[in-house]
Amino acid sequence: MTTKTPRQSRALDLSWMSKGGCVQRGDLPWTADPEHTTGRAVLVMRAVCHVCPVAGECAGYAKQQKVTAGFWAGRHRDPNPPSIVAGPGWATLPLPGLGGLGGLGGAA
Ligand code: SF4
Repeated sequence: MTTKTPRQSRALDLSWMSKGGCVQRGDLPWTADPEHTTGRAVLVMRAVCHVCPVAGECAGYAKQQKVTAGFWAGRHRDPNPPSIVAGPGWATLPLPGLGGLGGLGGAA
């Protein structure tokens, strides 16, 4: 007597990626190193991830695959990202509604 078992695919199912909020926001630096990402961009990417319909899958994938680069599920996966307030642009780019003043330390 022979028993057949169904073959299971070993390939990862990545179909969820096409449903990510980041797909529609290619203007943001999802793959940039943290030191090349402004604090403002981090905040916008976090907001996109916060309402992303596949955030759970994204976080699970990043954890399972031990991703160490890029912005996934609300945060940079770099093991030692710089502080959000230390990133370029945070204190130098004018913020809307502040009369041209930068963020932290913009007014001297
Ligand atoms: S959680 Fe963020 S990085 Fe992940 S798929 Fe959604 S928008 Fe993209």
